[in-house]
Amino acid sequence: MLSSTDGKKGRLIVISGPSGTGKTSICNELLRRLPNAAWSVSATTRPKRANEADGESYHYVSPEEFAAMKERGAFLETAEFVGNQYGTPAAPVLKAVDQGRFVVLEIEVQGGIQVAQKLPDSIRIFVLPPTRESLMARLEGRKTETEEQLRKRLAEADGEIAAAWESGCYQHFVVNDVLEETVKEVMDIIEKEMQPV
Ligand code: 5GP
Repeated sequence: MLSSTDGKKGRLIVISGPSGTGKTSICNELLRRLPNAAWSVSATTRPKRANEADGESYHYVSPEEFAAMKERGAFLETAEFVGNQYGTPAAPVLKAVDQGRFVVLEIEVQGGIQVAQKLPDSIRIFVLPPTRESLMARLEGRKTETEEQLRKRLAEADGEIAAAWESGCYQHFVVNDVLEETVKEVMDIIEKEMQPV
């Protein structure tokens, strides 16, 4: 049973996967179930969606603000995704890890690769949809994107899956069919990764 990081250095948990695979639901469950877990709030230049809150889902910044943050080395990693910039602010993440917390990052593959290089000790998990059709249905169902954005996100999915395999940066791949089962699988992975070698 996973109790905590025992006050030692914490662990970074990277959750990646194509848009619409249910990563956010998995991350929300991890935050609920992992002891002493922290969520990393990314910065993005993407416009805020109606169901999102500034400072909770993301820090919404202008392209100029994003560039300035990048310039002063404020990010652990950054990536461009479907025309928008995304980045993980380094300071809060590194502080929380130092405090012995589990820090959950929900980021796309290019960012996952950068984290693997900078923090090889991180646990990196890639979430796959059961089928391509299920991915399409989920993306359409959430009604947060226009037709054009939807098409771009679907086109991005194949490339992301290929990049995740080819990079060799993800130690674990899980298929998200039934959420509860996937969450159990991910919790098992984390528990095993936390065992001393
Ligand atoms: P969305 O626009 O749907 O919120 O996110 C688009 C993609 O960007 C998702 O795959 C999401 O996980 C990823 N993402 C969100 N924040 C970050 C970040 O800080 N860095 C990177 N590399 N990807 C991010």
